[in-house]
Amino acid sequence: MYAFEKLPQVVDKRGKLPHKGFYGNRKNGVDSITTRVWHHSLTKLSAGGSKIESFADFHVRTNGWPEIAYHLIIDPKHIVNGKATIYYCVDIAKRSYHVGNSNTIGLGICVIGDYRTDKLNEATIHSIIDLHKALIADGIGKYDKAHNEMPGYSWKACCVFDYNKAFKDVLSDLLPPAKQPDRVPGLYTIQEGDTFWSIALKDGKAGVTVNDLIAANPDVKPSELKVGQTIKFGIAKNSYTPTSERPKKPQSAYQYPLPSGVLKKGARGDSISQLQKALAAVNFYPNKNAENQGVDGIFGADTENALRRFQMVYVPYQVDGVYGPNTKEKLQAVLKSKGY
Ligand SMILES: [Zn+2]
Repeated sequence: MYAFEKLPQVVDKRGKLPHKGFYGNRKNGVDSITTRVWHHSLTKLSAGGSKIESFADFHVRTNGWPEIAYHLIIDPKHIVNGKATIYYCVDIAKRSYHVGNSNTIGLGICVIGDYRTDKLNEATIHSIIDLHKALIADGIGKYDKAHNEMPGYSWKACCVFDYNKAFKDVLSDLLPPAKQPDRVPGLYTIQEGDTFWSIALKDGKAGVTVNDLIAANPDVKPSELKVGQTIKFGIAKNSYTPTSERPKKPQSAYQYPLPSGVLKKGARGDSISQLQKALAAVNFYPNKNAENQGVDGIFGADTENALRRFQMVYVPYQVDGVYGPNTKEKLQAVLKSKGY
């Protein structure tokens, strides 16, 4: 029996929380663990759902995982003899889902609360210290890392409490300046249990949508995501253009009709003039200072440059300086938004 299991505030919940099956064992069992990964639940302590049963339910029913994500959970709302209860939820020899492609080596420890606003209480700090000391005595893991110090997670607001400071027995002044998560990464590596829907959620309500992910990743089948596969994430934002309900007008009916097909550097003719005029109409001039603002029917370096600039803003997942169906669709939508 490990020392951490003998801590008086530890309550064994293994197998007793909502689950649908169990995680498999780590390749080398407990010896696989190199890193103690610290999380916070991002649910406010005052919220009714800030409890292990709700987390288990969310992870199993909503995320479709076999069991709750974390091996150990510290609950600041259940204090016994001045120490927060530590729930032992998933056997540490098992590979649970809490840190994507580092699950094999990571031990998941979650402190309930949203420490962007909640404050660590003294009872919780005692339990963090006790658990940390016991794990070290047991030889479980070598390093401590916050979730957002793990590869691929620098953008996560997890955990924002200063776990290092807590280990050092500092009982006052414990709310550190919150570590600001980085911006959402442009690319994203698929983790176990991911769906387009759960990935889109990572960027919050106003961010990347499922439709954006589908539009920006035309070669990826949402139903066949593979762990380790890379998809466009942050740069997928605004990729999706809702199609209008009305039947499409022929291009000739528009003030700036757009050519069809694929056009690239070296092409000439009316279709290039159409493209140049349309780009100029939305302020991406082939050459603002030249005659006709560079509209000359020749797809040269200036036109390619204007097209690239347009793509960087509106088709960021496909900046190639080549005019094709995606660029056409977006250009049409932008013209429409400007009243053309
Ligand atoms: Zn986390």
